[in-house]
Amino acid sequence: MKGYVHKFKLNLYEYGPGICFTISLQGCPLMCQFCNNPDTWHKRSGLYIGSKLMINEIINYTPYMRTIKNSGVVISGGEPLMQPEFTYALLKQCKKLGLKTTLITSGSLIPNNINEIIDVTDLVILNIKHMNEQEHILLTGHSNRNTIKLAKYLHSESKEMWLRHILLPSVTNNVAHYKELGCLLASLPNVTKFELLPYKKDGELKWEAMGLINPFKSMEAPSTGELQYAEHVIFSAKNHKESLL
Ligand code: SF4
Repeated sequence: MKGYVHKFKLNLYEYGPGICFTISLQGCPLMCQFCNNPDTWHKRSGLYIGSKLMINEIINYTPYMRTIKNSGVVISGGEPLMQPEFTYALLKQCKKLGLKTTLITSGSLIPNNINEIIDVTDLVILNIKHMNEQEHILLTGHSNRNTIKLAKYLHSESKEMWLRHILLPSVTNNVAHYKELGCLLASLPNVTKFELLPYKKDGELKWEAMGLINPFKSMEAPSTGELQYAEHVIFSAKNHKESLL
């Protein structure tokens, strides 16, 4: 099984404790206006490589990874579910090596083999761009229905999940959206961590190099106060909803 890889690298403590070997795959059906990696959008670019070769690369590091608890492999993108067979092959072989497996996805598409993929995944980090469907479409070009559907499926499978959201000043910072996010969190007891991340301008040079018009060119990162307020509203809504359940 071969697939298109954007890049791979070894990190320490990027997704919790331990060494993490991250493989970013090519291809994404969304076109987020704030994307830091527009060079991952096209599926058929990057390094076209077999899963066995990729696993051999990982095996070079397994002696070190085994010395630190929770070390493992992270498959991200782009959107890894756009190459579902390749994603499955990588995760399955990593699981056989006894490594912790993590999948980072926007849940924007749900492939036919999702059950197999989730079976060999220990942790799913689900990125939700906006709770309001119309806003989500404006921001990414697609509905958020699959994302919500995947979150519910992961809950039904009792799969450990982190929920991640990027705060975009003047776009996602509205109270109704925060409250919906809090209510979603309350309905997903399988979520062990919620990450509210600030928008960063890391992808600006890539947009320019690719000749793309960056709609968020003038957007600045949110302030600490904006992040704290967002967290306050989200967790208040979560706690209130939980008290009613
Ligand atoms: S899901 Fe991620 S890779 Fe895809 S367009 Fe959005 S930010 Fe970029």
